[in-house]
Amino acid sequence: MSLKPLSRNRRDFIKLSSLALIATQLPSCINLNQKTSEWSKPNRRVVVIGGGYAGATAAKYLRLWSDHKIEVVVIELNPYFISCPLSNLVLGGNKEVDNLTFGYDLLRENHGIQWVQDTVIAVDVATKKISLTRGELAFERLIIAPGVDFNYTNIPGLESLDAQAEIPHAWKAGKQTQQLRNQLTAMPNGGAFVMTIPLAPYRCPPGPYERVCQVAYYLKNHKPASKIIVLDANPEITSKKGLFSKAWKELYDGMIDYRPNSAIVQVDAKNKTVTTEFELVKAAVLNVIPPQKAGKIAQIAGVMNKGSSEKDMRWCEVDFLTYESKVAPNVHVIGDSVFAGLPKSAHMATSQARVCASAIVELFNNRAPDPAPVFANTCYSYVNDKMAVHVANVYRYDATKKAMISAEGGGVSERPTELEGRYAQAWAKNIWSDTLT
Ligand code: FAD
Repeated sequence: MSLKPLSRNRRDFIKLSSLALIATQLPSCINLNQKTSEWSKPNRRVVVIGGGYAGATAAKYLRLWSDHKIEVVVIELNPYFISCPLSNLVLGGNKEVDNLTFGYDLLRENHGIQWVQDTVIAVDVATKKISLTRGELAFERLIIAPGVDFNYTNIPGLESLDAQAEIPHAWKAGKQTQQLRNQLTAMPNGGAFVMTIPLAPYRCPPGPYERVCQVAYYLKNHKPASKIIVLDANPEITSKKGLFSKAWKELYDGMIDYRPNSAIVQVDAKNKTVTTEFELVKAAVLNVIPPQKAGKIAQIAGVMNKGSSEKDMRWCEVDFLTYESKVAPNVHVIGDSVFAGLPKSAHMATSQARVCASAIVELFNNRAPDPAPVFANTCYSYVNDKMAVHVANVYRYDATKKAMISAEGGGVSERPTELEGRYAQAWAKNIWSDTLT
């Protein structure tokens, strides 16, 4: 069976039946209602927190590369997978959220992965146990792959959940992506779409600038008197600068007002105004992409960096040969939560997942992990409905620096083309198929 997006009916069915599904899929040794002491001792059990790009890929390759000898349990809070890559196209009217939504059935069934739909609320690294809302689970090794969480504490006016619900970030694909699209289609012609970008590092460096293209594409075709104001906390466009600047000029001349060094200091959710150090800007539609940090469970587990600067403390330091946490043995961290100086992307998350899975298999067999991992990262961005550009990089492990560093190879597109647009679709199909089947 090949991977197909989930229809709305099937999604509703999965949501309604998810509890029953969990009950029937839990193996006898993982009865969440039993006390830990009643379980048989875990043997080669890896528990994975998060079934996103990183966690799902790690689960699959742990099973494949151990000849199914490692028991793998994934805990994922959502009933299905919704892809952030290509989700900006929903705003331009060039994709539907439905096209980006997939089930976990094939991944689970093809590889014998045990799947629990629940939220992990605590991790005890000393006793090697996690707590879910419905019980506890022991592990021999743990992989934490929760993606990012948003940091609203420094945005006065956006601390409350009500305010956050009114001003969608749409930086985790799904409901909020649709909400922002609805706000955009309801916006009057002549209004301003205002988007704010946090200081790097954040999830998907080129993502905000691709979003600008998609919103501009929609406005140009449906509300040509409107404009886009981009308040970027960074001193300049952080990724594919030349390509985006050129595309904005050639395709959307006069529509995009880009303001660098414009960190926001206040938001008024009701009146849709945003204040920077220099000015107050009124929006018809306001899209605040908040500053980000490792997913909350990483903080609860105590694997986030301890340092003096706020920037360092937002992410989790790992050994790049195994992705084992620098502070908690037997606990690995992969994906966007990692402190690496590398782009936070789905491509990167799946590459890290494979290195981590391979290392765990080796460690369980008392062998040394690969001493020199190499992987690549490619990020496509659509500039309109058909044309895309890419940036690609190769990274290799540097034993002296104990870090992944840029290696020879890679580069950026010369210009946007429709051919690259087709490559971008193929890239997405490949990564979905690799991650979810
Ligand atoms: P996620 O994919 O977010 O997965 C984390 C999972 O953990 C989630 O499913 C979540 O529900 C689960 N979880 C979290 N906490 C818990 C808990 N306590 N208990 C149980 N489950 C939990 N990348 C690219 O490579 N190419 C692109 O073109 C691209 N475009 C993007 C466009 C946009 C608009 C955005 C926002 C991102 C884009 N990205 C792209 C980046 C990419 O989406 C992320 O880098 C990627 O999703 C990171 O994978 P992850 O597994 O670390 O996190």
